[in-house]
Amino acid sequence: MRCLLCNAEMLLMEEVPADPTTLPGFEHHTFLCSACNRIERRLLFIGTKTKWTRAVEKLVRKQKALKEEQTLASKSSDQASAVENKPPESPPTPKAE
Ligand SMILES: [Zn+2]
Repeated sequence: MRCLLCNAEMLLMEEVPADPTTLPGFEHHTFLCSACNRIERRLLFIGTKTKWTRAVEKLVRKQKALKEEQTLASKSSDQASAVENKPPESPPTPKAE
């Protein structure tokens, strides 16, 4: 995130969860500009995922993978799982005029 005044990179200083009853999944993020020391607060939606739901998801995924492994083993087929390998985005090249 960049400063609106000087366009310098802003540093995340603080993450404070918003009121879960009125703003569930939101956090107040406080940014400090590294150049002009301007402070900006933003309300950001970070999702309703807590550590607990993430842990449960991880467990479910693991169980699914195990089940798949078992069915694959019973079929005795050797299928390589497709792993999405995204190449890093190359920076935009300036246009020569
Ligand atoms: Zn600034």
